Amino acid sequence: MSRMASCIFCKIIKGEIPSMKVFESEKTFAFLDINPLSAGHALVIPKHHGAKLTDIPDDSLTELLPVAKKIALATGAEQFNILQNNGRMAHQLVDHVHIHMIPKPNETEGLGIQWPQQ
Ligand code: C5P
Repeated sequence: MSRMASCIFCKIIKGEIPSMKVFESEKTFAFLDINPLSAGHALVIPKHHGAKLTDIPDDSLTELLPVAKKIALATGAEQFNILQNNGRMAHQLVDHVHIHMIPKPNETEGLGIQWPQQ
């Protein structure tokens, strides 16, 4: 089986594995992290499969940060982390590029998250 065929995030993009989708466009997909570090913790991924940032063509990367920003705004979080891990030594567990958008809990709880239009 190819890496792409066995990739859990590729399966999420295709709808073969359910996810809490918060954004989708031609090149980008975003969903809530299954094991959130805080309410609203989301992952923004390119639809193009690649393990590391350096494996992805530039035109599949351009939307990632604007979408993470859109999601951050939708959570109402005034403080948040954006993280992107590459390789096991850098704590990457899933080998499909993803940007974490992690709101700081005290800023988001009870604010009524409004996800962007899909
Ligand atoms: O950056 P790293 O690879 O360590 O993070 C992977 C993230 O993917 C984890 O936060 C994990 O909870 C998330 N995940 C998910 N849904 C899955 C598998 C992993 O949200 N089915």
